[in-house]
Amino acid sequence: MALGLEYTGKRVLVVGGARAARRVLARYLATGATVYHLAGPVAGPAVAGVHTPAFPRSIGAWDALIAAVDLVAIVETSPDTDALIAAACARHRTWLTREIAASVAPVGSVTLIGGGPGLETLLTLGALNALNAADIVYYDRLGPTDRLGDWAPGAEHVDVGKAPGHHAIPQRDAERMMVASALAGLTVVRLKGGDPFVFGRGGEEVLACRAAGVPVTVISGVTSAIAVPAAAGIPVTHREVSHVFTVISGHAPISDTELTHLVGLGGTIVVLMGIGTLQQMVAGLARLGMRTDMPVAIVERGFAHDQRTTIGRLDTIGALATHAGVRSPAVVVIGEVVALASHGDDAAADLLREASELAS
Ligand code: SAH
Repeated sequence: MALGLEYTGKRVLVVGGARAARRVLARYLATGATVYHLAGPVAGPAVAGVHTPAFPRSIGAWDALIAAVDLVAIVETSPDTDALIAAACARHRTWLTREIAASVAPVGSVTLIGGGPGLETLLTLGALNALNAADIVYYDRLGPTDRLGDWAPGAEHVDVGKAPGHHAIPQRDAERMMVASALAGLTVVRLKGGDPFVFGRGGEEVLACRAAGVPVTVISGVTSAIAVPAAAGIPVTHREVSHVFTVISGHAPISDTELTHLVGLGGTIVVLMGIGTLQQMVAGLARLGMRTDMPVAIVERGFAHDQRTTIGRLDTIGALATHAGVRSPAVVVIGEVVALASHGDDAAADLLREASELAS
């Protein structure tokens, strides 16, 4: 429940078996509430930090317990006990909520989430719901993580991030960790930057889960390939300016054959992971026939407080980038649409006018 209530110092009674109630218990513990847990007539394993009162055997005992707490959260119980609790809550004006039980299947699950390019408001509702239900979250540096504690309260958070050149945790190990957690019965979330299937190795993680018999789902995210140019005012397509955009990885140098195709295709070229190979890319495009005055933008750290855009032409951007000291993460955009970013710029105004004249 995310009601925005202040729970610190409040007494919350959670009703349900330890495994089914583990997420709800973790969530209330994380709010600073004093948490009581009634597992059932036969007490289950104790959860650290949680009080375990004796199971009430009479209406009077239920009344005493429920009068002593501020909120009762039922996760699972029998219909009879549910009715007893509801009646006692009504008598004592104690708040009552019913919450979703965590999975108690022998095998848990993995949900791959695209977290978007780092801005909290670009997280999807699906992503937030999955985070809220997680027992463990494996995340890396490009996703939004500032408020992971609020989105996945009580879940264990594991950084499997990779700084460029420093593979903190090799991909195969990250996959093995996720699969092992799911096989231990946990609800696992893998939080990735942007969209999991855009250079995110999400496909490999899905295959690793399937190979281990772990149920896996994917929640798409907002990709930086579109959102980061947009954050700099650049639409990747624009009527009469560009009706195609190609997203390419600059992780490894791009071959002349590919560059020739890119030049021939026209439209907008969006390069992710392209800072290391920028000079080779722009020189190659120029050599293979792209106009040397083609506008190029480099948008670094999209959506961060220090987002920066460097704009030049195909024949100047290499030197400009070196001078500005551009660094990863950055999205490189090559194409006429870049001119649309420069508000107040005469050339951009001309281009927009031409485009709308052509369109009308
Ligand atoms: N799956 C991700 C891309 C992963 S590859 C997505 O769909 O967005 C990593 C590359 O994404 C970075 O090298 C950079 O080119 C780009 N990127 C991701 N987030 C970014 C951001 N906030 N600002 C600039 N570039 C970003």
